[in-house]
Amino acid sequence: MVYNKMYDGHNGYHESGLDAMAGDGGYELAKASDHIRFKMRRDGKRFWAGDNISEYIQDHKEDLINEATEAFEQVLDTLLIDRETDPNSQGTARRLAKMYFNELMAGRYDPTPNATAFPNDTDGKYEGMLVVRSELKSVCSHHHQPVSGVAYIGIIAGPKLIGLSKYTRIAQWCARRGTLQEELCMDIAREIEFATASGDVAVYIQATHGCCENRGIMAHSSLTQTTVLKGAFKDDPATKKEFFDNVKLQQEFAPR
Ligand SMILES: [Zn+2]
Repeated sequence: MVYNKMYDGHNGYHESGLDAMAGDGGYELAKASDHIRFKMRRDGKRFWAGDNISEYIQDHKEDLINEATEAFEQVLDTLLIDRETDPNSQGTARRLAKMYFNELMAGRYDPTPNATAFPNDTDGKYEGMLVVRSELKSVCSHHHQPVSGVAYIGIIAGPKLIGLSKYTRIAQWCARRGTLQEELCMDIAREIEFATASGDVAVYIQATHGCCENRGIMAHSSLTQTTVLKGAFKDDPATKKEFFDNVKLQQEFAPR
């Protein structure tokens, strides 16, 4: 699909790949983001900072990165940063665009990590608790400042087992968006529940927030903790205690 026309300043072109993509021959917009937004609104699809919209992105990421590069160039110009002669600012707009799509908010644009499930129904069925420690990087929706922390994910194994690294992949996929820590905690619990088919899931996150450390109250070493407990973790005090005992053991093993 060719979107070059939107970059060379020509307007008024007619049927294009983008029109076909919107599924509406009479609908003309120059930018990939306008067409994707149009489709999401048409479908009633929510596209908040913490939402995954991968089914609408497909192979349009490069076009969106090109478009965001131009937009970041405008922001830098407005900030009166000389991106022509300052060697450190040349290419910054493109670096920002790529960083948003491929790193900081990749979890919005990339599909769910593929978590192959293995049946947990053999003679040696594992019935105990599993606690995985996952390092997280996120950005807050309000300021796009870094959020850095650790999620402790607990489950009582259900009918499916997934590879250990998949817990962290899923958690990072949820985190790589614009998030609120409370929502992130719920998102991870829901996705782990879905991937493992276990209703007994706990997620405990502790994180530091750039928007409290780098700006505003400038409070260093302030830590935010959130917990979501489901099933036995919520209903059975012994299970809940075992989970938090495990979290403490994990913290002794790998303090942060
Ligand atoms: Zn913030």
